[in-house]
Amino acid sequence: MKRSWNFYAGPATLPLPALERAKAEIPDWEGTGMSVMETSHRSKEYDVVHFGAMKLLGDLLGLDDDHQVLFLQGGASLQFAMVPFNFIPKGGSADYVNTGTWSAKALKEAKIIASGREAATGEPTSFTAIPPFASWDLDPAAAYVHITSNNTIRGTQYHSFPDVGSTPLVADMSSDFLWRPFDANRFSLIYAGAQKNIGPSGVTIVIISKSWLARANQGLPTMLAYKTHADKDSLYNTPPTFAIYMVRNVLDWVVEQGGLAAMEARNRAKGDRLYDVIAAHPDFYRCPVEPASRSYMNVVWRLPTEELEKKFVAEALAAGMCGLKGHRSVGGCRASIYNAMPLEGVEFLADFMTRFAAANR
Ligand SMILES: *Cc1c(COP(=O)(O)O)cnc(C)c1O
Repeated sequence: MKRSWNFYAGPATLPLPALERAKAEIPDWEGTGMSVMETSHRSKEYDVVHFGAMKLLGDLLGLDDDHQVLFLQGGASLQFAMVPFNFIPKGGSADYVNTGTWSAKALKEAKIIASGREAATGEPTSFTAIPPFASWDLDPAAAYVHITSNNTIRGTQYHSFPDVGSTPLVADMSSDFLWRPFDANRFSLIYAGAQKNIGPSGVTIVIISKSWLARANQGLPTMLAYKTHADKDSLYNTPPTFAIYMVRNVLDWVVEQGGLAAMEARNRAKGDRLYDVIAAHPDFYRCPVEPASRSYMNVVWRLPTEELEKKFVAEALAAGMCGLKGHRSVGGCRASIYNAMPLEGVEFLADFMTRFAAANR
């Protein structure tokens, strides 16, 4: 077996022990004579996985009694619509901080459903920095403030979270959920598609404040109301059982590695290694992102020409590294180095970058 060094932005690399465990358990899972994919979502065996994954998440994040974990479908993209649908009251509006593609999509949905305002935007600096909190124009009457904690395409990330007073804070954490310890209880709602940092595609993690949920809009279609899923512990209808099982395997792995503090130490070492190699070749590599906003999950950089960028991606692929092409909307190169990417993979890439610069300058 030969594993690729996988730098795709999502779906993305998963921890090998989580995959090996699935491989071993697929034909006969815990003596049931079947895989988790084949069992009823009402079985007691599945309950162990479902509630086990919820508990692991709650424990890793130190969730208080007001916060509940949900497993939904439809990706982060459905959350763009569910959040305003459930939480912007009639005649109300919500504030959005635009830090690039995904937050713009979230705002677009709010405007379709109710009303959304752009309270701040990174557009004047071409989304190369998180707009400073002091510059945000917040509406005290906003139903909530929505942020995108890590901007997968632009390679920017919040390194602290804003104080928005008594306005509920909502975050799309799809591409950096669990990258380090943070105070999840400060948020009224967090959502994250699993396929970047915590599992395969097919399940979306939502963490919701129960007291906020109690004030949600009524009379929504059943499947689009958070209350439906909260009341039934995400078992109202058939959940994506295999994806949730894989998330459970990944969470067990996170715990074995030493939890979120260990994730942060690994992730900082990996990101620093790549930013250092970029800085060491200022005439060849250039990171467009301002230092204070650089992401530890998606590192983006440019080469002197687009031809060299193409050559870089092709030679890297031949050397065993996939997924290094930047998002089609921005070009350049991007290494997605989520929790499951070992430091060894990043060292391999950094050494390749050093050699490539020497051979092509
Ligand atoms: C990938 C991504 C999304 C879209 O997720 P889907 O699960 O494909 O809908 C949304 N927000 C961010 C920050 C992302 O990185």
